[in-house]
Amino acid sequence: MPKYDVVIIGAGAAGLTSGALLAKEAKSVCVVEAGKYLGGRGMAVPEEGFKLNLGGHLLEDGGGGLTKIFEYLGKELTHGAASADQLIWDHDKLEWGSIRDRFQGDRSELRRVIKILLATPYGELDRLDDQPLRTWLAQHTSDPAVFDLFEFISVLECMTDDWYDHSASENLIARKMHFEEAGKAAYSFWPGKGWDGLFDDLRDAVVEHGGEVLLNTPVETVLIEDGQVKGVALGRDKVLPNEVLEGDIVEADCVISTLPVWNVLRVVPEQHLPDWYTAQIRFLAQDHLRISWLGLYMATKQPVHINDPTELATWLHAPTSRLSGFFFNQTAMDPSTSPPGSNLYVCGGIIPGFKARDMEYVKRKFEEFEADLKVMYPGLKETYWRRRHLVHDPSFGVIQKPGLVGIFRPHWRAPNVDGLYFASETFRSRGIGVDRAARAGLTVVEDYLGRKLDGHFGWHY
Ligand SMILES: Cc1cc2nc3c(=O)[nH]c(=O)nc-3n(C[C@H](O)[C@H](O)[C@H](O)COP(=O)(O)OP(=O)(O)OC[C@H]3O[C@@H](n4cnc5c(N)ncnc54)[C@H](O)[C@@H]3O)c2cc1C
Repeated sequence: MPKYDVVIIGAGAAGLTSGALLAKEAKSVCVVEAGKYLGGRGMAVPEEGFKLNLGGHLLEDGGGGLTKIFEYLGKELTHGAASADQLIWDHDKLEWGSIRDRFQGDRSELRRVIKILLATPYGELDRLDDQPLRTWLAQHTSDPAVFDLFEFISVLECMTDDWYDHSASENLIARKMHFEEAGKAAYSFWPGKGWDGLFDDLRDAVVEHGGEVLLNTPVETVLIEDGQVKGVALGRDKVLPNEVLEGDIVEADCVISTLPVWNVLRVVPEQHLPDWYTAQIRFLAQDHLRISWLGLYMATKQPVHINDPTELATWLHAPTSRLSGFFFNQTAMDPSTSPPGSNLYVCGGIIPGFKARDMEYVKRKFEEFEADLKVMYPGLKETYWRRRHLVHDPSFGVIQKPGLVGIFRPHWRAPNVDGLYFASETFRSRGIGVDRAARAGLTVVEDYLGRKLDGHFGWHY
């Protein structure tokens, strides 16, 4: 194999973005992916006439992230359907209402707090990693309705299992980005060509700029000698489970790993990293710090949603399971993801990460949660197809409580090893999701190149 400037491990959002940007900057790159699909945690897979996503449900890009990255690469990321309203389940009255009705406070007070946020530079918000959102809010308002609205948005975004305990930096930087880029507190949409179309376009951008993308090719280990990256050794299926592989070597002076904190140390030999740095990785990888939920895909012949088909619905407490969660009609977002005449619904009920390996708990909660959904959406009694999934391994992301974000995360540049980078929204970055993973890729690429790219991108490090 030839020697590359950069080998990238993983063909998810971070890996394909990094690969495409570097290829456009005339670097020779090879993106190496263990699985058979593009997209990593955002992959879309066909199943019995449906298209199911491992992760990606809606893309949270106000326009300055992946949308601009596509533009820079000569592609277009069209914004498909977006949620027109946000329904909220009132767990006391057992009925649905709109998020618009939730805010009962003084609108001028809300506008005043938003104005303060928009006038605060990102650098100042970036220093609030050890503070809960409530601390910042208390400095600027005493209106409980303003507190409620800001905190409720973190429920919608599933950033923490304790919705009142979101870190100030994460919440406020995301809010400011959304206001600046989309003119709204929160914005998410279905990618115009679907999730598989989005990743196909990114792969094409890598290849059209001269890079390579290899699927079904696991990296066994990153090769490091005397504090300098040498490349990667590729793996393959082992004949004996304890076989020691002597695989192909792909040489490169730089390796960008996009593996999340949960499995990065399987391929990056930790003896080359400082112990305090691997301790940060192991700390964040703990079960109780992973965002976890019980996921369900359900299909009905008759629509079951309440108002607009593209509505995104959310709640703090389902009637019996008491799980908070979300629900939306994927068919309304993209009719090609379910057979004609069907409606595919996606939903999740958030569970604490430390409970996710307790299968008795998981099964019991699934039963309760499915019964809850039939109370909230009576039409689901006619569900004719369904699939359960457990969101934990992989997780949606690392929980975003104070002390677990920003400077408390391992830096994207490996200390003491030249040429080793970590592009992942589970390392030092902001937010969770496909757009934030792509922005993490952009940050690493700019750091590697030693200059900012001229793409008019929105906020990133
Ligand atoms: C259930 C769920 C719901 C989600 N919902 C949303 C949503 O609605 N909107 C949103 O924006 N985001 C959502 N996310 C989060 C989003 O999917 C991730 O933030 C994003 O996909 C992360 O991209 P990444 O490239 O950083 O990492 P990954 O997507 O994790 O990519 C890492 C890649 O590395 C590969 N890999 C692993 N080991 C090796 C190896 N040894 N050699 C080679 N390759 C390897 C993996 O196969 C994978 O493809 C969700 C995630 C989950 C799990």
